[in-house]
Amino acid sequence: MHQTKQNQLNHMLTLRIVELTIITLICAIFIRPLLSEVHSYFFWIELIDLSLATIFYFVIRAGFLDKWKVTISLISSNLLILPLLAISGGVNSPLAFFLPLMPIMAALIGGRIESLVIGIILISAIVLATIFGNVIMDLNDHVYSNEKTISRSFWLIITIVFSMFFGRFFLQKFTELTDQLKDENLQDPLTNLLNRRGLSYHLEKELNKADINSPVALLLIDIDYFKNINDVYGHDIGDLCLTEVAVILKAALRKNDIIARFGGEEFIIILPNTPKTEAITIAEVLRNKVSQETYSEFKLPLTITLGVTESKRENDTTLKIIKRADKALYKGKDKGRNRVEISEN
Ligand code: GH3
Ligand code: MG
Ligand code: MG
Repeated sequence: MHQTKQNQLNHMLTLRIVELTIITLICAIFIRPLLSEVHSYFFWIELIDLSLATIFYFVIRAGFLDKWKVTISLISSNLLILPLLAISGGVNSPLAFFLPLMPIMAALIGGRIESLVIGIILISAIVLATIFGNVIMDLNDHVYSNEKTISRSFWLIITIVFSMFFGRFFLQKFTELTDQLKDENLQDPLTNLLNRRGLSYHLEKELNKADINSPVALLLIDIDYFKNINDVYGHDIGDLCLTEVAVILKAALRKNDIIARFGGEEFIIILPNTPKTEAITIAEVLRNKVSQETYSEFKLPLTITLGVTESKRENDTTLKIIKRADKALYKGKDKGRNRVEISEN
């Protein structure tokens, strides 16, 4: 899901870049000649570029290029600029100022590989343009000394390499930030356990992996008479008790078990690769641990009731498995609380 959002973002950014290219080319073709005299070669190359960019825009929009659209767009937009550079003085062209921006853009829109590929294409083009400088046309009729050309190439290459590093750096920071946001989205701020969204994500994944030989067990846990704690000691003490119960439950679990806060004072524990019989033992351990502790500075006793269920072979969904555990839990509440109840089917 996260991947799809990232793809959508890349798709949107790619379209914006192609739109900007189209607008720039339209300005170059129609407005620049009004301001100064330009050689007709520019007109023809820019017109070809404009047509290619427009075709490209509709191809991307229609979604014909899927997996590779970002890479192909970036490389093509770079290739479009090279003929213009070649007729306007190579590295001495005013257009050359834009080159160091390309790897940064490529890193942000595409990724590391794209930034690297574009950097290499540009550096190769600069080296070729310097070696074969005397066959490059400068339709603006400027004359540049060899020394000036070599010095410009040198600085262009340095800035492009810097831009490749910066691009990677930005990308890394951006990825870290989005990962952090993703974690915060899936986490409950009070207990630091997974929240409901985080639970759905993991439960769906575990149910897909589960089969006859490795069933998933699920425990639905509800603290008994919790409303009394709030009523007598206040919400703050209630919150503190909740976090303390969360710590005890979490500490008692195995490495691959997953715990989430399901709602107010309810928790869900996913036990991957665990048959029901083993899950019952684990549930009893948890029940004992919680009842043996006291909570908050008032040393309050608390107990929990647990509903236990196991994944079914076919067509089990997150909704169905939670519903079965919920039924078992309410049976436990009916029978007097501080109990483990097992779902019937
Ligand atoms: P039982 O489950 O044993 O039937 O009784 P209960 O009193 O725990 O009843 P229930 O589960 O229906 O009520 C949950 C109560 O938990 C309601 C509310 O006062 C309290 N609660 C829910 N979320 C929070 C929370 O985030 N902080 C605090 N302090 N209290 C909460
Ligand atoms: Mg409840
Ligand atoms: Mg309760």
